Amino acid sequence: MQLNFIANRSVASPTGRVLPVIDPSDGQPFDEIQRSDGRDVDAAVRAARACFDGPWSALSAAERGRLLMALSRQVAEHADELAALEQRDCGKPTKQAQADAAALARYFEFYAGACDKLHGETLPYQSGYSVFTWREPHGVTGHVIPWNYPMQIFGRSVGGALAAGNCCVVKPSEDACLSLIRVAQLAAEVGFPAGAINMVTGYGHEVGDALARHPGVDHISFTGSPKVGTLIQQVAAERHCPVTLELGGKSPQIIFADADLDAALPVVINAIVQNGGQTCSAGSRVLIERAIYDPLLARLGEAFEALRVGPATLDLDLGPLIRATQQQRVWDFLSDAQSAGIPVVAQGTVVDEAPDSGFYQAPILLADVPAAHRVAQEEVFGPVLSAMPFEDEDHAVELANATQFGLVAGVWTRDGARQFRMARRVKAGQVFINNYGAGGGVELPFGGYKSSGYGREKGFEALYGFTVLKTVAVRHG
Ligand code: NAD
Repeated sequence: MQLNFIANRSVASPTGRVLPVIDPSDGQPFDEIQRSDGRDVDAAVRAARACFDGPWSALSAAERGRLLMALSRQVAEHADELAALEQRDCGKPTKQAQADAAALARYFEFYAGACDKLHGETLPYQSGYSVFTWREPHGVTGHVIPWNYPMQIFGRSVGGALAAGNCCVVKPSEDACLSLIRVAQLAAEVGFPAGAINMVTGYGHEVGDALARHPGVDHISFTGSPKVGTLIQQVAAERHCPVTLELGGKSPQIIFADADLDAALPVVINAIVQNGGQTCSAGSRVLIERAIYDPLLARLGEAFEALRVGPATLDLDLGPLIRATQQQRVWDFLSDAQSAGIPVVAQGTVVDEAPDSGFYQAPILLADVPAAHRVAQEEVFGPVLSAMPFEDEDHAVELANATQFGLVAGVWTRDGARQFRMARRVKAGQVFINNYGAGGGVELPFGGYKSSGYGREKGFEALYGFTVLKTVAVRHG
């Protein structure tokens, strides 16, 4: 059974209640986590506050950096163990789980190096004054994490917050806690003081809500669905608590007729297949210039037919979806698409070794999807790619921007001027030209326009969100 981790101690919740941990590959429970409530949150926030007021703030920035570097090495040494935990918990193919563990180590490495490079400025002002700014930590930061990339999102969110000098209370998703509980233990092992990283598991409406409401939490970093993002904002607004929101996406891959299609094809497919399409930045719409629409669709279809889905440890193209309700969600979208007469061009195969009790979904390519249909507008969060043709550059921009989201976009063209025009005109927090995702990009600021959220995580930019700027004016004559 898994316990909460508060002030460097594994503790059971006073609720005495637990939740099962389900393996998505076979749908069977194999462990338990604490079903905590506000009391656990309160204990964690107090521990974080005591650490912030005590040993954590006594460390120099360089010392904080050394601790984060030690944690990066510890994670790298335990990468196989962490990957195995997250693989079973989330149904990730082996390569994906290992990549996520490597990314976690890299986030801590990046933020270790950033600690002592974060500084304020001196400002020219009236004569007789010296004015400067400090970047101060908020204090106690709350982190609400989704289930799709627990290690990666923990790395970018908690890594940045710690580097900026905060102490953290983390609420992982009830569907994906195991790797993160272990990371908190690893942090204690390398010398993080008690209370620097605290982990409380349970349901969102019980633990996440209590964390967002807690008066001792000075900043909330939320990654998850737009719906819960709204709830978090409303709760945080009651006490004017600053929030960073990393929400969903409906990201377009825009392919012009002059593109290098051999280069584009595998990237476009990976962008929807990776993690079973359960990726905020999934390239879930492919917009194809009319002149190459039919032949490219045929090539995409062939590639989709070759994709295989199965138990996580078989390490195929896709593992299972996270849970039965997610599977049902994808089925609902597909059934709506079918009712609207949207054609299925191709689909992959669920292998025979996949137990019926697992949450499998073959990847599906849909063609001629009307821009207004919900499969082209909403996050399916499964391996469903919606293809649609466009006539010219203006039309491509119109379609690309025609959803409530604006997280990521990919543009494929050899025309240099068009590359820049498209990058300017597409409303997305990240635009990739002739690539998609830049291999993860720990260093690259990430976040949304519109309903994809606000604030930026990843890169050095994240540190500004995890700090408060204080201006100091000294009048010395
Ligand atoms: P979710 O919103 O259901 O849950 C996210 C987290 O919020 C979980 O820990 C959950 O327990 C908690 N939560 C639920 N209700 C809450 C409440 N009332 N108060 C406080 N916390 C609450 O999202 P999910 O299903 O876990 O993840 C999928 C979503 O996350 C997708 O929409 C996806 O696009 C988004 N996401 C965004 C990014 C990004 O960086 N933009 C990254 C990953 C996932």
